[in-house]
Amino acid sequence: MAGTHTVIVGSGIVGISTAYYLSLLASEENSEISAGGAHYTSQGHHIHLVDPAPILFEHAASGKAGGFLARNWFSSSVAELGAFSFDLHKSLAEEFDGRKKWGWSQSTVINLDITGSRKKGSETGLGEGWDWIQSRDSMVPSAEAEELAEYPPWLNEFAGVRPLADRESTAQIDPLRLCHFLLDQCRSRKTVRIHNPALVSRLAKPTSDPDLPGVLIEYQNTSEKVTVPCENLIVTSGPWTSSVLKSLLPGEPPTSFPAIGSLSGASIVVRSKRWQPPQIDPSQINALFLSKRMEGFNPEIFSRVGGEIYIAGLNDASIAPPPPSTHSPPSSDSVGRLTNVAKYLCDRHSAKAHGASADFEVVSRGLCFRPTTSKGTPVIGQIPLRSGGLYGRGFRLWIASGHGPWGICMSLGTGMVLSQMVLGRKPSVDVSKLWP
Ligand SMILES: Cc1cc2nc3c(=O)[nH]c(=O)nc-3n(C[C@H](O)[C@H](O)[C@H](O)COP(=O)(O)OP(=O)(O)OC[C@H]3O[C@@H](n4cnc5c(N)ncnc54)[C@H](O)[C@@H]3O)c2cc1C
Repeated sequence: MAGTHTVIVGSGIVGISTAYYLSLLASEENSEISAGGAHYTSQGHHIHLVDPAPILFEHAASGKAGGFLARNWFSSSVAELGAFSFDLHKSLAEEFDGRKKWGWSQSTVINLDITGSRKKGSETGLGEGWDWIQSRDSMVPSAEAEELAEYPPWLNEFAGVRPLADRESTAQIDPLRLCHFLLDQCRSRKTVRIHNPALVSRLAKPTSDPDLPGVLIEYQNTSEKVTVPCENLIVTSGPWTSSVLKSLLPGEPPTSFPAIGSLSGASIVVRSKRWQPPQIDPSQINALFLSKRMEGFNPEIFSRVGGEIYIAGLNDASIAPPPPSTHSPPSSDSVGRLTNVAKYLCDRHSAKAHGASADFEVVSRGLCFRPTTSKGTPVIGQIPLRSGGLYGRGFRLWIASGHGPWGICMSLGTGMVLSQMVLGRKPSVDVSKLWP
């Protein structure tokens, strides 16, 4: 297969965004060359996306995350990338009807302060310290709460509600649906090939040209093996990135590679009787952050266009990611604590009487892993190699990982700038501070 070959290892939102933009930019380049009547024929840029998951995105953070997007909530080294990526989310949604296809919407951001000490009691089952909820009918929303255009209909009324950000600079999506949209786009392009469930087992030069770099891809369900040429190896394996790099390039000193860790997060998705499509007004899409701890953590709650209410914030660095083709469910303790938060915030009945039917139903539960770095910012760029020449003519190794709590938000921008760098173009934003 002539042309240039890129293998992307890991199809979470960062890998699929990279495949999407790389195939788009490379196809523009090809048509420019032929349209310009250049004296050579473009032989195309072939992209292979490899992932061991039998069902892509299902258990990875990219399919289980919250989908909150912000334009200007970032530290200086990622501020430009964050704003650029936020704008790409908006323009992609405008171009492809993202509201319908993946629930893109502007969002109100609310800080909810559930302070207040009321009478003791245990009717809610929430335990000591929670009982004042039972008298919340007597609570009066603060003046700040009344300033909100619409108090979220799914939220019990509390004092201490404070708008945090304007609707122009924050938004929400359903990340799983965005990933599937990008995947469908990639599948429709002849230059992208998806390999799953499959692993890149090692670097392997193609027999057709032993000077060329390449990789061996092994299918997990059939044991079929295929060698493909690979000038660009891009590792976007989320929290598994460090182990992928070490296993694929055992000859490189481990210190050549950035260290990517992980932070687990449990979540539940509920549906409320008080938040049902098609009546949902997009001006009521909310991201809610609690300033006080509840059930031992600071809940983060997102109400989406599709009618889902996503509840997370329960994180644990001591839980390690499972092997990538498997998944660990959240513990019953985590689900119980998240459900208690839902009861407290969303269910009018649990405050009043036992046995009343709840306002909400838990429709899914998840545990997934953010890829993290010690600096708190992602690593995006080409990794310099000590033994580069050994791997074949023109071999280059790239990484995009460690986006921590912002991987959904920064996915499109990361995919775009990485693609530009791979194609030898100037990136739209300066990410040199994020180079490995
Ligand atoms: C509870 C929670 C809520 C979040 N909410 C938000 C939010 O609201 N907004 C936001 O911006 N971010 C949010 N995030 C962060 C975001 O989910 C992550 O930063 C992002 O999903 C990381 O994407 P990724 O593609 O790097 O990794 P992943 O989604 O982990 O994908 C990595 C992929 O690599 C694959 N892989 C693993 N090993 C191999 C291998 N050997 N070969 C090939 N492939 C392999 C895996 O199967 C997986 O598909 C949240 C995270 C959590 C945990």
